[in-house]
Amino acid sequence: MSRLVVASNRVADLSVAKQSGGLAVAVGEALRQRGGVWFGWSGDVVEDGEPDVPTTTSLDNVTTVTVPLSRSEFENYYHGFANRTLWPVCHYRLDLAEFSNEFLESYRHTNARFAAEIEKLLLPDDILWIHDFHLIPLGSELRKRGVTQRIGFFLHIPFPPIEILTATPEHEWLIDSIFAYDLVGFQTQTDLNNFKRYLLQLGNTTFLPLDRLICGDRELTAGVFPVGIDADHFAEVAHSPESDRIVESMKVRDPGLALIIGVDRLDYSKGLPERVRAFERLLELHPEWRNAASLMQVAQPTREDVDAYVDIREELERLTGAINGRYGNFDWTPVRYINRSVERDRLAAIFRASRIGLVTPVRDGMNLVAKEYVVAQDPDDPGVLVLSKFAGAAETLTEALIVNPFDTDEVAEALHAALIMHQSERKHRNYALRTKINNFDVFKWQKDFLTALEHSRASYLIPERTA
Ligand code: UDP
Repeated sequence: MSRLVVASNRVADLSVAKQSGGLAVAVGEALRQRGGVWFGWSGDVVEDGEPDVPTTTSLDNVTTVTVPLSRSEFENYYHGFANRTLWPVCHYRLDLAEFSNEFLESYRHTNARFAAEIEKLLLPDDILWIHDFHLIPLGSELRKRGVTQRIGFFLHIPFPPIEILTATPEHEWLIDSIFAYDLVGFQTQTDLNNFKRYLLQLGNTTFLPLDRLICGDRELTAGVFPVGIDADHFAEVAHSPESDRIVESMKVRDPGLALIIGVDRLDYSKGLPERVRAFERLLELHPEWRNAASLMQVAQPTREDVDAYVDIREELERLTGAINGRYGNFDWTPVRYINRSVERDRLAAIFRASRIGLVTPVRDGMNLVAKEYVVAQDPDDPGVLVLSKFAGAAETLTEALIVNPFDTDEVAEALHAALIMHQSERKHRNYALRTKINNFDVFKWQKDFLTALEHSRASYLIPERTA
């Protein structure tokens, strides 16, 4: 089995990976099985003139190597091209995207710098797995340095339609750099179709069966690998004695209250204002839920130094204040808004205590909260998942109540339907969803991707192509 080298924006602390979530556990497991290296940004920013040497830590057969970013890289590569250009573009928000040559140059330059660091760590038989939008050109920078090992790339966020992507300066360069990989993985069939439609329209790609794609002298295999969760562990945490205690105390505090839970980073892709409006519409259309149902929205702060995130926070606070002012009373707060991070273990208990998991992003690569909500439920008396059709998870979780998050009335009616749904239907839906989530957990995702990478054609190893 080849040694594995992983590169991602951030690196999890493998000694406490369970706290970092399923992805870190699954990548950590692959690294431990094969031995290897995990490379990424340390989270530190160094000022001009300060040392920027890598930090290396080893635990058994796994080494983590992290590097700081310079102030300029942090502003232009990370907060610039990654967060202000690629993130909005890939979430279909051209109106929020900022384009600047400085961002682009820094993105190229930082990826080239990372490639130089990674090259020093490689052994001849390694395979490499590169993650996400921060590092799209890392593969081509490695190839420029003569790296011939198999390299796979997985995009965790959506791949936008050609009409949106082509509004991004240098999109040809960006997509061309994907052909440095032997395997590229997407979250959904929609993303893969968008990628293929882009290639088809811009020409010069040959499409072979099994999603093998040839462009010039390079061959790439593309595939769909929906990210899962560590389902067994999450279900176990949701039913631990500590969770029993939290669920019990929630029932005692608010007897008979139907709780609707939303948990998201406070990001404009998550559809939070639309969600609060839909809950308000539920109270208008079905007044019987006044005093009887509350929306609890955990909105974890994120990227607070980007203007668009300040705007979305202000809008959400305004809406929440307005609805609580209009409908609330001494005994009942319609919307409980929590603008901080909540520990995942505690979330598991809150999910279990909630009658509805309300997951309504306006665009999302996958959405793991949807999967966590389902497996946290009591199988004999489960709550209902209401899920946006624009979340990647909706492609497989078809037994959820699937809604259009822009259609306020539709979401309000789905909430009502979920609140009055008979136990037998809830059980039936939860069983079907849980089975899918268990069968396609994060460990299967990791194994499927690495198996596909090992079986990909590795065009860089074909002598006549590299000559
Ligand atoms: N999460 C958490 N605490 C919070 C909010 C979120 O631990 O306060 C976790 C959540 O349980 C999930 C992850 O963060 O595992 C969010 O993943 P998701 O795919 O839903 O959204 P992303 O933030 O990656 O866009």
